[in-house]
Amino acid sequence: MGSGQKTWGTPHHVLIFPFPFQGHITPMLKLAEVLSLSGIRVTFLNTHHNHRRLLSSPGVGARLASRPGLRLRSIPDGLPEDNPRGLTEATEIIAAFDATAPPLYRDLLSSGGADHDGAPPVTCVVADGLLRFAVDVAEEMGVPIFAFRTCSSSSFWAFHCIPKLIETGVMPFQDGCDLDEPVACVLGTESFLRRRDLPSFCRTKDSDDPNIRFLMDLTENSTRYRGVVFNSAEFAESIVLSHIRGKVRSTYPIGPLHGLLQAVEHSTGAVGDGGGDGIPSSDSTSLWQEDRACMEWLDARPTASVVYVSFGSVVPLGKEQLLELWHGLVNSGYHFLWVVRPDMIVDGGVPAVVAAGREERGFLAEWAPQQEVLGHPAVGCFLTHSGWNSTLEGMWAGVPMVCWPFVSDQLITSRFVSEVWRIGVDIKDTCDRAVVEKAVREVMAGERSAQMRAAAASISKTARESVEVGGSAFKNLERLIRDIIKSI
Ligand code: UDP
Ligand code: UDP
Repeated sequence: MGSGQKTWGTPHHVLIFPFPFQGHITPMLKLAEVLSLSGIRVTFLNTHHNHRRLLSSPGVGARLASRPGLRLRSIPDGLPEDNPRGLTEATEIIAAFDATAPPLYRDLLSSGGADHDGAPPVTCVVADGLLRFAVDVAEEMGVPIFAFRTCSSSSFWAFHCIPKLIETGVMPFQDGCDLDEPVACVLGTESFLRRRDLPSFCRTKDSDDPNIRFLMDLTENSTRYRGVVFNSAEFAESIVLSHIRGKVRSTYPIGPLHGLLQAVEHSTGAVGDGGGDGIPSSDSTSLWQEDRACMEWLDARPTASVVYVSFGSVVPLGKEQLLELWHGLVNSGYHFLWVVRPDMIVDGGVPAVVAAGREERGFLAEWAPQQEVLGHPAVGCFLTHSGWNSTLEGMWAGVPMVCWPFVSDQLITSRFVSEVWRIGVDIKDTCDRAVVEKAVREVMAGERSAQMRAAAASISKTARESVEVGGSAFKNLERLIRDIIKSI
């Protein structure tokens, strides 16, 4: 691939099927676009709800329509349209989707498209590892299937180690257990991982926790796939990937996928085709409307002077957390651009002090064009929840981070940021304005600031090299495409 050759007259037709959350749709849609530009026919299967939201951003429909051999399809998610679809509803969403999607997905596999629009049959599936039924149905229909995991590979590996964590008494967590105790059984005795850095599900006190069973099932399922695709990179997670290799049939670390897509666009000459109809094409995969006014606000700020604050698409924030964060930011003395999603504050709206004070130092956006924001020269620090996509985007942009992780793989990722890549500060398990202020100052202008900035610039350079022709992500993509083609 990479030479721009077309192969979509051939029988290869890949169905890409993400879990219906922003952090899953983003990297899997990028993969759909990458494969389509590489000559593979692709169907991207979204939920009706997210399909509508995705296409409501100007220029997105035009961009996706311009991808050769890419078609979008959607199915219901089993929930009423006005049902909330945040992190707190995750179990409800999984149950509704598990009940609704399998027959529709089976139809797509058997007919090549429920709408019989002439597409050749699906010859291979790349499904989100969270969709347990996807592998059952693919096996039943005899269709080869690859898993896509949107979490970091360190988190995937920690889930794999759950039986060992239980055997060695690290889990379940006992009352008063030492959260700072090193955990040796995940990454060896030299481990920089502490109990508090394990993915949040490991913090259970219940040995029969259904979430833990679910995660263990997913990990056990991994051997049923032809291989596992990670939006991860050799340069970032080689220590973990070396543990995973051999435990699944093949691993394909092809991240950061947003960077890989840019590289493939360049190598296939697919850059800047515009959106037609006077609408500029957009590289957005956002389900929310992006507030582009924040880009003008950034244009007016000096280089590396702004703290960009975002907690991703699903994390909820309590009023106390919000206020501690707000005061910490204001007290740091820096300007900030802060994403406050309309559904983000759990116990009431934006407090009066925040709403009134925003003009002074901050810009509040409901949703920002994050990759563009991180690439803006005015941004000097990324205060993040350490979501995996956000972390990769911060690395790609070379922006040092303050990590305030909340749940899931965020807790292990923030440890990698501070201890492995050394491009930021980890303030997990705190909710204190003084801690926020100190961390922001440390990253912006503290003693270690220059070191973190240099490490971030270096990792950004390595990330960019890895997606170019001959780089590790690019080679892994070529191997994935070869294996998809061979899998028929
Ligand atoms: N092509 C290719 N491999 C394929 C199918 C097509 O290289 O598997 C080339 C084909 O040689 C032609 C171009 O892509 O130059 C357009 O192919 P096709 O007619 O399939 O595209 P369409 O115009 O029907 O979309
Ligand atoms: N994002 C965005 N604008 C925002 C906030 C987030 O485009 O204002 C995007 C961000 O770029 C990332 C995704 O939403 O691609 C969030 O994914 P991540 O894995 O970081 O966190 P999650 O939402 O899964 O917790």
